[in-house]
Amino acid sequence: MTTATTTERIYNFSAGPAVLPLQVLEKAQSELTNLNGIGMSIMEISHRSKAFEEIIARAEKGIRDLLNLPENYHVLFLQGGASLQFSMVPMNFLSKDRSADYILTGTWSKKAAKEAKRVGPVNIAATAEDGNFKRIPRQEELKLDEQAAYVHITTNNTIHGTQWRKEPETGNVPIVADSSSEILSRAIDVQKYGLIYGGAQKNLGPSGVTVVIIRDDMLKLVPDGLHTMLDYRVQVENKSLYNTPNTFGIYIIDLVCQWIRDKGGLAQMERENEAKAKLLYDAIDATDFYQGHAEREARSLMNVTFRLPSEDLEKQFAKEATAAQLDGLKGHRSVGGLRASIYNAFPREGVEALVSFMKEFERKNG
Ligand SMILES: *Cc1c(COP(=O)(O)O)cnc(C)c1O
Repeated sequence: MTTATTTERIYNFSAGPAVLPLQVLEKAQSELTNLNGIGMSIMEISHRSKAFEEIIARAEKGIRDLLNLPENYHVLFLQGGASLQFSMVPMNFLSKDRSADYILTGTWSKKAAKEAKRVGPVNIAATAEDGNFKRIPRQEELKLDEQAAYVHITTNNTIHGTQWRKEPETGNVPIVADSSSEILSRAIDVQKYGLIYGGAQKNLGPSGVTVVIIRDDMLKLVPDGLHTMLDYRVQVENKSLYNTPNTFGIYIIDLVCQWIRDKGGLAQMERENEAKAKLLYDAIDATDFYQGHAEREARSLMNVTFRLPSEDLEKQFAKEATAAQLDGLKGHRSVGGLRASIYNAFPREGVEALVSFMKEFERKNG
């Protein structure tokens, strides 16, 4: 095995697993064989050890502090990805006579609704599928049920490149949100949410750990008789340690939270993310050669989707970009074109490099 150096790192636009802060990787590397002087790796110690207890407590506090979480919210580190939450959410909150509202804004929300339908009654309160999910439904379009157990939204649509920039008004019904591809990218009004979940591999850490933030009163809806591992109450009571969690993943989340805090917290993160996205959207809007997929008001700060005049040019763009060390730009097959994922850890210089590349590519091929 050869040793990689930081100068060999390229710009990684992958949608997920995605780029992590270099400082976090270097810190993890420096501690990999000997964590904090204990003579063992994070991957070799018991999840019941004092060393790990400190790490999971700090990771929880990191998320709490960044989001300013009130006392009545619990933070869980589960497994099974965001995809298992598609099932756990309805299993814990739905019943034959208690339905949920789902707003469909992309592939992931459709998958979430599909699992919920297996469990209980689901009302599709709105869908943006018409036009291939390029917009976010307007408030007036939502057919919400005042009696619903929750309203499910996907706050950032990783594949289509749209984002709820402001939560829908849902009255007394709590929002349950899949925030996999934007969690900790900006400040949010947590009180509107009954539950927020996200696979870590986009903005928080490696794959294999899912952060679930759950408001205490939601636990009252949980029916008895669920399988132990799938019952949020069990996970809360056992502080995510009912079974062996992804210890390495939680360790990285702790480091990522420290990195965000040192940068100035979520307000600063949001400013940087807005500035990065603006650079890219301005480049797309500058000429007709590039066409954004998402409507302007719905544009995501995290995943920027765009098309070129032909599929051949799109293929050529992705290929030449990769050769220029701009990796992972090929769009998802359901949208086509290109997608630049520019999560928290993606550096501004990488966006600037892509913008230069776009200008040059258009000059040669436009
Ligand atoms: C990636 C992604 C998922 C799937 O996450 P897994 O952890 O692979 O299950 C779900 N929702 C959104 C919004 C995503 O971006």
